[in-house]
Amino acid sequence: MEFFDTHMHIDDEKFDLDREETITKMYNSGVTKCINIGCDVESSKKSIEIASKHDFIYATCGIHPEVLPQDEEEMWKLISKIEELASLNKKVVAIGEIGLDYYWINDNKEMQKKAFQRQIEIANKLDLPVSIHTRDSIDDTISIIRNTKIKKSGVLHCCPFNPELVKQGLEAGLYIAFGGTCTFRSSKNAPKIVEMVPLDKMLIETDSPYLAPEPLRGTRNDSSNLKYVVEKLAELKNVEPQKIAQITYQNAQKLFFPV
Ligand SMILES: [Zn+2]
Repeated sequence: MEFFDTHMHIDDEKFDLDREETITKMYNSGVTKCINIGCDVESSKKSIEIASKHDFIYATCGIHPEVLPQDEEEMWKLISKIEELASLNKKVVAIGEIGLDYYWINDNKEMQKKAFQRQIEIANKLDLPVSIHTRDSIDDTISIIRNTKIKKSGVLHCCPFNPELVKQGLEAGLYIAFGGTCTFRSSKNAPKIVEMVPLDKMLIETDSPYLAPEPLRGTRNDSSNLKYVVEKLAELKNVEPQKIAQITYQNAQKLFFPV
């Protein structure tokens, strides 16, 4: 089986001691394409650097809502740096991760919305899809998805198991990415959401080093664990794991490498 990990953070310091070994392990386990996601200017640069060393790794650039500066002028500077990085590098295949997150910080909602909007505009200008993060911000995310024209589609990453958000996302033409959380026993809505999402809109991801799937929950995650996510989706969709791996691979190709 071959897998396409659409969302990982192999640049994370948790891989500092064995990054190259882990990348080799991922490839040998069948992960023949993957995307390293930027969260700020530094990690976007690191993503590009890692992608430039490995043919099968691609990169995204973006400012995650959780790391926005307090100063608005500073925010615009960082966002224009993201635009510059993304426009100059051929291995950048999306803008992300961008979005809204009111879980830790919710006194800067207006700035978060502006940053999200602006980065969607950059993606549109550069003809790139977007990778969207949302947490505790369902209503505002839905209204931005509804009201902003996302030109090259995108993905709702780390599938938020909220039926309304997933419904709106699908209506807006977005893909839905499933990772380790769909294997957690605590994700009560997961079976319902998996049922809602048609196979041709599904993607898989690890969000590594976070969110390791069962039975490895709590350990450092990497893309070689994607098989557990695939097995769970196959079980819930009542199809062969091979079929999930294949179709999510094709979907990712279509989204990130349109011909
Ligand atoms: Zn992430």
